[in-house]
Amino acid sequence: MMGDWKTRSFWLEQGDYTPGERLDGDETADVVIVGGGFTGLWSAICLKEADPSIEVTVLEQKVVGFGASGRNGGFAMTIVGRNIHQLAKMVGDTRAGATYRAMHTAIGEIEDFATSEAIEADIWRSGNLTVSNGPEQDVRIRQDLDAAERMGLPFTPLDADQVQAYAHSPTFRIGHFEDQALILDPAALSRGLADAARRRGVRILELTPVDAVEDIGGLRVEARTPFGTVHADRAVIATNAYAHSIPELRRFIFTIYAYITLTEPLTAEQWERIGWESRCGIEDKRILVHFSRRTADGRILWGGRDAPFMSGGPNERHDRNQRLFDRLEETFRWTFPGLDDVAMDRGWAGPVCGTVDCIASVNWLRGQRILYALGYAGHGVGPSRLVGKIVRDMLLTDGTELTALPFVAKKPVPLPPGRVLRRLLLDTSHKVLIGVDENPERADRALGRFALRVLQ
Ligand SMILES: Cc1cc2nc3c(=O)[nH]c(=O)nc-3n(C[C@H](O)[C@H](O)[C@H](O)COP(=O)(O)OP(=O)(O)OC[C@H]3O[C@@H](n4cnc5c(N)ncnc54)[C@H](O)[C@@H]3O)c2cc1C
Repeated sequence: MMGDWKTRSFWLEQGDYTPGERLDGDETADVVIVGGGFTGLWSAICLKEADPSIEVTVLEQKVVGFGASGRNGGFAMTIVGRNIHQLAKMVGDTRAGATYRAMHTAIGEIEDFATSEAIEADIWRSGNLTVSNGPEQDVRIRQDLDAAERMGLPFTPLDADQVQAYAHSPTFRIGHFEDQALILDPAALSRGLADAARRRGVRILELTPVDAVEDIGGLRVEARTPFGTVHADRAVIATNAYAHSIPELRRFIFTIYAYITLTEPLTAEQWERIGWESRCGIEDKRILVHFSRRTADGRILWGGRDAPFMSGGPNERHDRNQRLFDRLEETFRWTFPGLDDVAMDRGWAGPVCGTVDCIASVNWLRGQRILYALGYAGHGVGPSRLVGKIVRDMLLTDGTELTALPFVAKKPVPLPPGRVLRRLLLDTSHKVLIGVDENPERADRALGRFALRVLQ
């Protein structure tokens, strides 16, 4: 596969990356981490920082950032669950507030860590603008603002003129703004984190697919690969949607494919036309959201919308889908009609680990030797830093205030057993959600009404 990771996203294509060494024979470690995305890398860094004597090995099937971490939109946001209003509905104001405050800290730590480690990942404290594109989305903006106000969280309400001052679009109505959000180059951050981990003594082995992680009689674990086995005290499964291959995890996760399109670079005059002067990220308030941002070389990244739900695990044949790229271009043109002379340059996709409540889960699998950390449902760039600290606390302590957060405390919502039922539920949910987003005025149908009652 030499080099085939490069074609997976605009970000992975940049730079002249050479994969590190792969496993060659049997080895030992205190902790073996499977997966070299943000979750695996932050977990390794947090463990090493807490106790430099711990031997940590990360095994990555391809290259660091090959999965969602090297393909995403590059928004590091505080969002956990579908939004702050929904999180509060699920876990109550106190726990939702504590989660958001922990996320504020995590976002600041990502920025500070990158600065102190001289990671060049084009990181901007740009803030995040959330906009509404219709009356039903206005409701969701107000719900977030009410929840944030109750919890004393810094969400700034924006009226129509204030939203247009960030970026001009005939579709934007009202919104809210959060300062504590970054935009960044995710593949560069993945590679920078891997370098920082290596400097701390973490062993990162690439091109090393793990076939199985086994608990050996509750005494130790083995991570088996075609090139040898890592014998360790504990293991961390940080394989995101790829964890579908593990039956216990498949019960509550599913794969969502997220699609992104990218314009050619805009001229200064084209940027002026839409008045998007700051580099803030923009998300809308659909259920299957649109997200957009500017890149360092002046393009607009435009993603989201259909995001198909798959009942199986990641499959590379979904990495390109012209029909979905075209549908994204359609909403880009609808949002920025003033940019009709800007062409789309390319598109890509990646697997997201879906969970019913959109809350990542960190917990033990079979006993107390194998920990899993996954399920961000499309918002893992910021939370993976917090999850890295939770993994550290789960492995090294009896519990901290972080292990009391919903990532650990809230049980994941199971999907129905059996392939047929699972597929039926996922297909129907996807159809209903698309219907609610595309034709909100027709969401008076029974299933649409039910979806809105649950999701709003
Ligand atoms: C198109 C797209 C846009 C997104 N946009 C955003 C965004 O703007 N903001 C945001 O917060 N989130 C976004 N996300 C989600 C975000 O990227 C993820 O939540 C986050 O990267 C998850 O990190 P991870 O380390 O858990 O998983 P991954 O990055 O997927 O890492 C898992 C790793 O495990 C490896 N692996 C799998 N199986 C094995 C095995 N058997 N052996 C060894 N290694 C294995 C994979 O190769 C992969 O590198 C987006 C995702 C996509 C796909």
